[in-house]
Amino acid sequence: MRELGKIPFPEVKRLAESTRALTILPVGVVEEHGAHLPLGMDSFAAEVYAASAAPHLEESGYEVLVAPTINYGVARAAIDFPGTLSLEPDTLRSMVVEIGRSLARHGLSRLVILNGHRDKHHMKALDDAKNILVEEKSAQALLVGFAHDDETTAACYREGVRQLYRSPRPDREGHGGESETSVALNSFPQLVKKDIIGQLDPNFDYDVDAFRNETKDYGSISGGRGYFGWPQAATAETGKQLVTIRGRNIANVILKAWGAPPP
Ligand SMILES: [Zn+2]
Repeated sequence: MRELGKIPFPEVKRLAESTRALTILPVGVVEEHGAHLPLGMDSFAAEVYAASAAPHLEESGYEVLVAPTINYGVARAAIDFPGTLSLEPDTLRSMVVEIGRSLARHGLSRLVILNGHRDKHHMKALDDAKNILVEEKSAQALLVGFAHDDETTAACYREGVRQLYRSPRPDREGHGGESETSVALNSFPQLVKKDIIGQLDPNFDYDVDAFRNETKDYGSISGGRGYFGWPQAATAETGKQLVTIRGRNIANVILKAWGAPPP
């Protein structure tokens, strides 16, 4: 796995000429995730999953290139929390289309958009960007991670992880809860406020429909807490397994769609 921002141009030329290059574009957001997690949670998670998926893709013959993360996205539900930033969906869509076109110009025309942030308008913008690139034949493009199509999201994030939850209500775990806190404890523990996790009560009794459909803001449905589920149930070990399983899941979704590259 190589990182586009960290290599010089001749290496890009070599990758493009190999015809086996696959570029992953991680996409996140700046959004509150409770008082214990950093605002960049979803961006960092997308990078962690890209790194975890890469070896599986390389085993199948791809040369994986990870583009610099889009750290901004659409985050309307949490916009009232200090620090949450939101783009208009059109802005995000344009960014992805223009990055995809630029990559394709250099012969890097296999683009996987790996999205770490669940928000309907955000996912729709990414889906639209993917469709534009495919329709204009700029790139072979795929949206994985949190996708507009729920089957893809389930195949990437929910497949094979249910038994890892320690929470008594895994069905109520969500934003800032056991899963995300575990991934953070494993992958960027220095950014977790570990001293306050013990004081965070479970948040199981929230309006699930309003949360899933984003009809009310996170502040009002979480009683100002900003998390859903029970962060106290999180462990670094759970996070390690989540990263491993989800990385493999994401690689499987890509390989199912595209197969291995030509030899
Ligand atoms: Zn998140």
